[in-house]
Amino acid sequence: MLHTLFLLISLLAQEGSTPPQPPQAAERPAALPDLTVPGRGRAGMDVRHYRLEMAIDPTRRFVEATATLELELLEDQEALELDFHHMFEVIATRVDGRLLEAQQVPHLLRIPGKRPFPAGRSIELEVIYRGLFPQDESQGDVVGMLHDGRSVVAYLEPDGAHHFFPCNDHPSDKASYELIIDVPEGQLAAGIGELVEEGPSPRPGYHRAIWRTDIPTASYLVALGVGPWVRIERTGASVPIWDYCEEEDRERIEKALSSVPAMMTFFEARFGPYPFEKYGHMLTRKWIGGMEDQTLSVLGRTEALSGDQALLAHELAHQWFGNLVSPYQWRDLWLNEGWATWAELLWFEERDPQQAAQLLEGWRRSTFRLAMREHPHTLAAPDPASLFDGLLVYDKGGMVIHLLDEYLGRERFLKAARHYLAQHARGNARTLDFRTALEQSTGEDLEPFFAAWVEANTLPAIDWELSSIEQVDGPAGQSGPPLWKVQISARQEGAFHPMSLALELQGASEDERERVPLRFVRPQITSSVTVRFRPTGAQLDPEKRAPWVPAEPSED
Ligand SMILES: [Zn+2]
Repeated sequence: MLHTLFLLISLLAQEGSTPPQPPQAAERPAALPDLTVPGRGRAGMDVRHYRLEMAIDPTRRFVEATATLELELLEDQEALELDFHHMFEVIATRVDGRLLEAQQVPHLLRIPGKRPFPAGRSIELEVIYRGLFPQDESQGDVVGMLHDGRSVVAYLEPDGAHHFFPCNDHPSDKASYELIIDVPEGQLAAGIGELVEEGPSPRPGYHRAIWRTDIPTASYLVALGVGPWVRIERTGASVPIWDYCEEEDRERIEKALSSVPAMMTFFEARFGPYPFEKYGHMLTRKWIGGMEDQTLSVLGRTEALSGDQALLAHELAHQWFGNLVSPYQWRDLWLNEGWATWAELLWFEERDPQQAAQLLEGWRRSTFRLAMREHPHTLAAPDPASLFDGLLVYDKGGMVIHLLDEYLGRERFLKAARHYLAQHARGNARTLDFRTALEQSTGEDLEPFFAAWVEANTLPAIDWELSSIEQVDGPAGQSGPPLWKVQISARQEGAFHPMSLALELQGASEDERERVPLRFVRPQITSSVTVRFRPTGAQLDPEKRAPWVPAEPSED
């Protein structure tokens, strides 16, 4: 079995040995068109602000809305075009206060001008519309305002924002938001950013909440939920933490999500200050895991009630990785999911080592499978037909962040991660931007690492030996137990995979154990160490923390 495995891996390794050179960081290509989620996003405009005034009846999933967009045109336009679901009924559109006729085509709202709209022009565009929130699929999942019969919650990734409001539905065009939400008495509206106002609505029988954020936000991250909810207000973190659930779940949710303030403090110590106005969760009875809406994650009710720590850590970590720094294009999704998945390990490694080991084993298995199957898609170029590929984008993504952590060392790695976050805060990043930030912070050339682990699905084949063991004298003038100097030689065959692995030297008795880090900065390395026992054996990567295969024994 191992032999077959090695042959396959070895063939794959050779195939991946000449990775394409990525472009230099300076020459950022245009974010649009985005071929991973084609059709969405308008290259010719920059939306600065969305004001969404909505009356929502969650039991009917019906909305009456006025969306006001402040935008700037980046190119001359025959017509203003926005991503917008064609099932909504458009009642009126105004450009700078003047009524203009709009056309609706699938997933698009088109407003032709009497003359072309010139580049550089700032426009206030108002769209009055109503209808049922559409429940269309994208990437195999219903996206939009997810409806469970009692509540609606924004579940918009990757391109469901235009099932909610007319927008430039691409993460590269971030904007500020104001949500003025009227809901029937007895319902609560929970939204993005800060709660500015809560009280009676001018609409009889309705209640109004105004939510606002000035922090640039990607359209797929806009948080809004309406349901027959109560609010649980938590303290103990650097920002308020508000959870929304039904009264019958209140006590259980209070307990199940009680670790979140401590979790936030834990991540802040590693990733930097929590980047938004508040945090919290809202629940849906739909069968979903979670979705990291900015400042207010969505959780499936069942998962929330079980207090799933991995899920809570994952969605919270996304507030830094995904929300503060968002994908430049959808092919960069692994930067969101790899980091959020790795954050689960970070949370568990000291609290629950067994759980941490299980996570790592799962990622390792997935990384092996991708290599075995000659999976044609890589983290750098995921499959547009299966963007949220669990094996690749989540498991291998988490594994690659873990391998970087081990390769660079925890302290250096987290410092570099904070540099990356600071450099792209409130903006967007590509894989190359991530690599460049790590290189700037650490001074390392990480091109070989990214070529091996991000742009290919190969695994390293590793051969190693204790090339010499000799007894040596202790420091002059000191008597004591004898010392042994051990030399370790290790080499990788096929494509080079930069990585760090631990080698455990073992002596005759149980307490004679010594860990030696092997850092593959080149395919062939030697390392020497002096230990207080005579090594009788050794094991490479005893806890199976990395994906690799034993190379065939060398001839010499
Ligand atoms: Zn995620």
